[in-house]
Amino acid sequence: HAGARLVVVSNRVALPRQTATGGLASALQAALRERGGLWFGWSGKLAADTAATVHRLHDANVDYATIDLSRTDYDDFYTGFANGALWPMLHYRPDLVDYQRSYLDGYLRVNETFADRLQQLITPDDIIWVHDYHLIPLAAMLRRRGVKNRIGFFLHTPLPAAGLLIALPNHRELLETLVSYDLIGVHTTRDLRALEDYFLHETGAVMRRDGRMRSANGRLFRGAAFPISIDTAGLAEAARNAGSNRELGQLRDSLEGRSLIIGVDRLDYSKGLPQRFQAYAQLLERAPELHRRITFLQIAPPSRGAVLEYRQIRRDLERSSGHINGKYAAPDWAPIRYINKSFPHKLLAGYYRTARVGLVTPLRDGMNLVAKEYVASQDPEDPGVLVLSRFAGAAQELTDALLVNPADTEEVADALQQALAMPLAERRQRWNAMMAVLRKNDITAWCNAFLQALGH
Ligand code: UDP
Repeated sequence: HAGARLVVVSNRVALPRQTATGGLASALQAALRERGGLWFGWSGKLAADTAATVHRLHDANVDYATIDLSRTDYDDFYTGFANGALWPMLHYRPDLVDYQRSYLDGYLRVNETFADRLQQLITPDDIIWVHDYHLIPLAAMLRRRGVKNRIGFFLHTPLPAAGLLIALPNHRELLETLVSYDLIGVHTTRDLRALEDYFLHETGAVMRRDGRMRSANGRLFRGAAFPISIDTAGLAEAARNAGSNRELGQLRDSLEGRSLIIGVDRLDYSKGLPQRFQAYAQLLERAPELHRRITFLQIAPPSRGAVLEYRQIRRDLERSSGHINGKYAAPDWAPIRYINKSFPHKLLAGYYRTARVGLVTPLRDGMNLVAKEYVASQDPEDPGVLVLSRFAGAAQELTDALLVNPADTEEVADALQQALAMPLAERRQRWNAMMAVLRKNDITAWCNAFLQALGH
């Protein structure tokens, strides 16, 4: 398939020269440019009708094609089913699932529209790579339209154990469509076990000697783990060069020699923020000698405000950060700086490098790129310490972090104390071990590994 064109399909498309293009977007753009390709998905805009027009753009060997969504499709497909039902389910939170048939109908409707439009844009030799939980049934819908291309799928979230997945109404109708992909990629071996367990025990698929599964209707497909990563070298360089940045200088000056603990997360219930704040409060309670000597900066840009749970957690955190500051602050010191705003990647790299501790404690996370970014941004001579949840995919690779269970807030407080007191030699040794992993598996290696397995 050396000459085959690559077609990437994802809910959102990163158009060229758009600001705030993340590591994944850059890696996919690089892969598309190298091979020549097409990126297809939602424009991020609303219109009177879904997909009334296909917006086209060509740049550097890559075609971009996007469609708008109607308000109803946005509400049912995106807010309703994808973010109101699938996201909590995939993050082990069946209690938060808001399932409505109209949401599932909207989800299937938008996927059918994607299949219709995409079919008109592809040629028989194209390799198709579909991304994430918004588009699970897309390959099945393409197959029904006669598409025979190699199609791969990558799930960017965790995949919970079969016993949990079956709590999703109509789970089989939805998840069994995955057999239409030739390759299903997940982040970790735990996710892969869950995938195989689901297919082998809930759908009657069988495992073959060659590691592929055969579905009940005779299709051969394979699951594999590909832990996503970051642009390790690029981030290290950005962090090195951030020194002259004015905003970074202002942060440093404001610390007046205090040790910085940093957290950077979308405001999402999967990130364990209430528990993290509680752990920090326990640290302040038990270690008065640390008062005035540390500052916790939590950056938490709001997301998905249309979903009730996101508005609720925002209120909880406002209360809890206010409570902690009210209780422990002094006229010249606030223990928490809590910011509901997003920051550019390059500036974050400088903030990470300034922080003695990176505090990354999601209850569940597919990978968690912030953990990797924190490590890649450190000063090799004087690296900080990563405190990392065992339930982030990144914990499978970054085993030299201080690994914690985020629900055990006392364990998290212990780890913070240990991190703040850790001698330089141990910090260097742990950092070198983690950095070796990130140099070997960067975002380019991830992208190539998936495409090679798909047979590109
Ligand atoms: N991020 C950012 N600015 C912010 C907060 C986050 O650029 O103010 C980036 C962060 O650097 C990382 C991504 O958003 O690259 C978050 O990815 P992660 O896997 O940690 O979590 P997700 O948001 O995908 O659940």
